[in-house]
Amino acid sequence: MGKLVIVGTLAFDAIETPFGKTDKILGGAATYIGLSASQFNVDAAIVSIVGGDFPQEYLDLLSNKNIDISGVEIVKNGKTFFWSGKYHNDMNSRDTLATELNTLADFNPIVPEDYRDADIVMLGNLHPLVQLSVLNQMTVKPKLVILDTMNFWMDCALKDLHTVIKKIDVITINDEEARQLTGEYSLVVAARKIHSMGPKYVVIKKGEHGALLFNGDNVFFAPALPLEEVFDPTGAGDTFAGGFAGYIAKTGDTSFENMKNAIIHGSTLASFCVEKFGTERMQDLSNKEVHKRLLQFKQLTQFEIELA
Ligand code: AMP
Repeated sequence: MGKLVIVGTLAFDAIETPFGKTDKILGGAATYIGLSASQFNVDAAIVSIVGGDFPQEYLDLLSNKNIDISGVEIVKNGKTFFWSGKYHNDMNSRDTLATELNTLADFNPIVPEDYRDADIVMLGNLHPLVQLSVLNQMTVKPKLVILDTMNFWMDCALKDLHTVIKKIDVITINDEEARQLTGEYSLVVAARKIHSMGPKYVVIKKGEHGALLFNGDNVFFAPALPLEEVFDPTGAGDTFAGGFAGYIAKTGDTSFENMKNAIIHGSTLASFCVEKFGTERMQDLSNKEVHKRLLQFKQLTQFEIELA
């Protein structure tokens, strides 16, 4: 079983969806990635930063999932990163109402010694120079480096983003962001352009419309599971990425064929994330529930067709 390093935000989120509104609750890319990857019992560590206002119980929640948090810096007099967003009625798009970097503005990530030889590195959505710094601390070349990013960093740090994108293997990005990064409407053309920027594998997330995996001329598509209850899509992309990374870390197989399964695991875990506000649904998700949903996924996508 492989080691996994995750860098990303531990945050307070305030979320509004057509179904309700929350005050500051636990959020952050690394939180969702970690909770999702912990389903695979891999040796995972989070590298992040929080302020003195971040409750110990949130850190305990991660530790209790066997996630190493020795790489989480606590700035006693500082404030934790805060993000607030409001979803439109279709829940596929949202407006960011506030992004307060707080302690994140001066984040200098330190990867714990024990994780500098990790097999898989998951660079969660953060300033590209922070992502690069984590990569530069690895003493052994990782088997796979996965990067997630968003329009915020394209708007304010595009040059640095290109520098880090050049050095990674897999990028996970949503459809709108893929179009912004490449200036192309067609996702096939956009994926080809992103390949030419560095990553051999391009995963384009399309929210409730599933995800595409491109590797040169190889393409794989997985739908999202049709759900009865969707309360809050926050963190679905990170949960997907955490499931993808966790499955690859567990299996140690970075082939395109295995990545297809990683996509299915990522989509399955993301389908739970959206059922409740914030991280609530992910906090005590059982293996049994996940297994049942994987079976549903198989049934949804399998068919026999007679071709003449
Ligand atoms: P997702 O819905 O998968 O895009 O992820 C939502 C999470 O990303 C929230 O929990 C936020 O705390 C976090 N987030 C939002 N904006 C940023 C940002 N600019 N940098 C890092 N993390 C962010």
